[in-house]
Amino acid sequence: MVDCKKKRIVIVGSGFAGLGMASRLLEKGINDFVILEKSEGVGGTWRYNTYPGAECDIASMLYSFSFAPNPAWDFKWAKQPQILNYLEKFTNDRDLYSYIKFGEKVTDALYSNGRWDIKTKNGTIYNCQFFVSAIGQLHHPSVPNFKGKDRFLGNSFHSAEWDHSVKYEGKKIGVIGVGASAAQLIPELAKSAKKLVVYQRSPNWIINKHDRPYSSFEKRLAKKLPFLSKIYRLSLWCQGEFLIWPVIKGAKLRGSLVRRLNNLEIKKHVKNRDKASKLIPDYAVGAKRILLSDKYYKAIGQNNVTLETSAISRIGKRSVETISGNKHDHDIIVFATGFHTNPFLKEINVLGKSGFELKESWKDGAFAYLGVTTHKFPNMFMLYGPNTNTGHTSIIYKLEAQFEHILKLLSITGDGIIEVKDSVEKQYNAQAQKKLSRLAWSKIDASWYKDGGRVTNNWYGSSYEYNKRLRAPIVKNFMVTTSQIIQ
Ligand code: NAP
Repeated sequence: MVDCKKKRIVIVGSGFAGLGMASRLLEKGINDFVILEKSEGVGGTWRYNTYPGAECDIASMLYSFSFAPNPAWDFKWAKQPQILNYLEKFTNDRDLYSYIKFGEKVTDALYSNGRWDIKTKNGTIYNCQFFVSAIGQLHHPSVPNFKGKDRFLGNSFHSAEWDHSVKYEGKKIGVIGVGASAAQLIPELAKSAKKLVVYQRSPNWIINKHDRPYSSFEKRLAKKLPFLSKIYRLSLWCQGEFLIWPVIKGAKLRGSLVRRLNNLEIKKHVKNRDKASKLIPDYAVGAKRILLSDKYYKAIGQNNVTLETSAISRIGKRSVETISGNKHDHDIIVFATGFHTNPFLKEINVLGKSGFELKESWKDGAFAYLGVTTHKFPNMFMLYGPNTNTGHTSIIYKLEAQFEHILKLLSITGDGIIEVKDSVEKQYNAQAQKKLSRLAWSKIDASWYKDGGRVTNNWYGSSYEYNKRLRAPIVKNFMVTTSQIIQ
């Protein structure tokens, strides 16, 4: 027998997005909701990514909810365990645990007559008026299908599926990929690996964090005088908005400053000229995520670390071979090769009005009006949806704007139905793509920000503009049926 439960709102996912949304709903007096979470705990990406050195590359005073400041961050850029702990404490403090159903993997979301049926793998159906997706963009590990990969006799795993039973000290390790995850785990592995080979396809622009622990005096100050933390948070936001965002827009002076800082660090830490020359990207600053690290180039400069830039031809039983004929022996291979980010919501079969498939709608790349609503899918809201990612600031800042946007749409809709107008969404999307085509992200052929040549993941403007637009929804852009729905 199918177990069917009725709720006003179903939120899928309990990372920053789902928890923050739930907390804001409760503050508004809305408690007829459930959060469905496939794993056995909250935290989303901060639960899965436990690789050595995992931390946040956005400073924690900004990478946290403005309505739940934490004066107790140990470092300026918090480590993964403390971020997970922050989210668990937030869930507890806000009494959210009783709203979460763990181990509920959503398989289908089917719309009919003003209601959604959200089906889970366990066979439960949650019938609701509003479906809120909070499943994130970065949670499907991508492991390239290298020839011979499955015959490797050592240990191998993706950075987001770290096998903590495997000891890496004194081992011969290969790390494939040099993105944001690799830049954090490579320095940790380099400390104790016998030999570490870093397989780099393309280097990154990297600048220093100047990270350090907060002193107990600073923590006490932040606790006693919260406005100081607010000012600091604002200054962090300003750095992203006025220093990094212009670089993505193509500002020459600030772009050359990033290049100079990057090159100086390489010169300082990587004495081998051949190695150093391979570390300088040949693409526009900001086209891929600008990485922040105090430790990466130091690690690459170590004698036990080899930088391999020839493409991988095959993986042997105990080695990795390259097309230039190099063969490196390995006990462990780490795939720091990123995530499948497109299409969005790929693991859920979403059918909107008249059974229209979301996958069909997004066959040429995902889109959504302001990243939150999409035509033919009434009463469905996305958090961290298409074209909402950022390369210069905290995603939490944008999530908070999305929470307020959704709360306003909920109040406009009441018991009825809301759907963005087709013409509005089309016009918005055309404008977004036009603006995105002028930004650094469009200046390279491929990255996880792109799908089929279009930038589908990132927002085209400053985070200030995004915030402003989201917090004041234009009611006439939506079709709203306020009549009572038959339940
Ligand atoms: P990523 O940035 O997509 O990096 C993947 C790496 O694997 C790249 O160096 C890529 O090379 C390489 N690669 C992929 N396929 C390959 C192949 N077939 N052969 C050789 N190399 C291959 O992935 P990520 O490092 O996991 O980071 C993804 C995103 O997660 C980040 O951009 C960031 O938004 C987020 N993240 C955030 C934090 C944080 O601190 N907040 C930390 C980690 C990750 P190419 O560059 O040549 O494609």
